[in-house]
Amino acid sequence: MLEWSDDRSGVRGAGYSFPVLSILTLFVGWGLFAAPAALAAVSVTALRHFSTEGYTRVVLLLDRESLNFRSGRLKNPPRLFVDIPSGRLRPGFQMPSFDKISIARKLRVGRPGKNLMRLVIELRGGKIRHKIFTLPDPNRIVIDLREIRIARMRPHPSQARSGKRRAPRAARSRPGPGGRSPAGDDRIGRAILGEVGRSPVPEDKKRRSPNMTARFRAGLGRIVLDPGHGGRDPGASGLYGLVEKKVVLDISRRTAAALRSLLPAGNTVLLTRNRDRFIELADRTSFANRHDADVFVSIHLNSSPIRRTRGVETYLLAEASTPRAMELAARESGTTVSRLSDLQKILNDLMLRSKVTESHQLASAVQKSSVARLRKKYPEVKDLGVKRGPFYVLVGAKMPSILIEMAFITNSGEARRLRTKKYRHALSEGIAKGITRFVGISVQRASGASLITGKAQP
Ligand SMILES: [Zn+2]
Repeated sequence: MLEWSDDRSGVRGAGYSFPVLSILTLFVGWGLFAAPAALAAVSVTALRHFSTEGYTRVVLLLDRESLNFRSGRLKNPPRLFVDIPSGRLRPGFQMPSFDKISIARKLRVGRPGKNLMRLVIELRGGKIRHKIFTLPDPNRIVIDLREIRIARMRPHPSQARSGKRRAPRAARSRPGPGGRSPAGDDRIGRAILGEVGRSPVPEDKKRRSPNMTARFRAGLGRIVLDPGHGGRDPGASGLYGLVEKKVVLDISRRTAAALRSLLPAGNTVLLTRNRDRFIELADRTSFANRHDADVFVSIHLNSSPIRRTRGVETYLLAEASTPRAMELAARESGTTVSRLSDLQKILNDLMLRSKVTESHQLASAVQKSSVARLRKKYPEVKDLGVKRGPFYVLVGAKMPSILIEMAFITNSGEARRLRTKKYRHALSEGIAKGITRFVGISVQRASGASLITGKAQP
């Protein structure tokens, strides 16, 4: 594969990692190009695209392999071109309209030479790197665009105070962002160092051990909890006036507190939001990426038009395992099943970069632990298991990432329990223990071992 290229103008041939193959390809390709009559036409049948914050993938679908396409970058306006000899657009090809967050702005099509089609993708300003490669079955040219961010130079608050990465306990134990503690339990606020847009990113990523359990034992682990929805997006509404965004925030705070008491001192738990505010889905995972989090858990409540439907289920990002998973993913992503099917189509590509195996392990640990903890008090709790779905909120996460649907707020039994502190506490403990097990910290040791902080307050 080609390395990422920056925005210097230049032309490159089709991407192959093997030099001999590359030369051969160019030889054969341009040899044929010199005799256009012999070259079979290549039709671009469709263009698919997908974006998260700072990342866009554009996929050109071809009816046959293009051995000799070329690509390059040009300035004023910033753009990327792909030249396809004997290329054409299939009749009925739909010109794309890119999302607001997309790095790609616009597609243009030109014919700079006889028998040569040039696709021009106009790009957003700023420093953009691109990578272009081909995939077979179906034949595709894939263009990944990535925005290069200038690192934020503000020191971490704890570094400013102590010169070390982790501040002394007293310094860390201040209330949550906004200068006041979340309502109710002050202990919960102390577990939180920041939320989306409000916390500087630590700059010592490289000093961390590559082994996750070692990181958590050393107090250098980071967990991001993501209370679903917020602000103008209330999520699902259920019985007894329950609103998803409120309940999940409360349970997320409780989970943060439970994690703090289970994990060795120094480990960080971050919430994507610690109050009722709206956050874009893409900002949630990019927050976790920027913080180099080890684990990302999005916390939600389920709903169903069928009142008797109940139970706990945990999802990882993958093609939907059932039609219901697809509907749920669409609802949680604020979109429709038909729009989501575009994501589903390019999900195989995206999944190559996501941690599917680890996410599955995390999902199993959290699902198992949540159900087990609930069943201690509520033996009839239904285990709906680990499932797969194309959830936008999990796309782009660089760490194991899951979404838990803790209960159905449309089921009278579960909704009634969700109103109680006892049930919320049991849920948060179950989730926290599952995460703790996944990162390799033994839950049993938490109560007594000197390695573990326990519940003692500073
Ligand atoms: Zn939700």
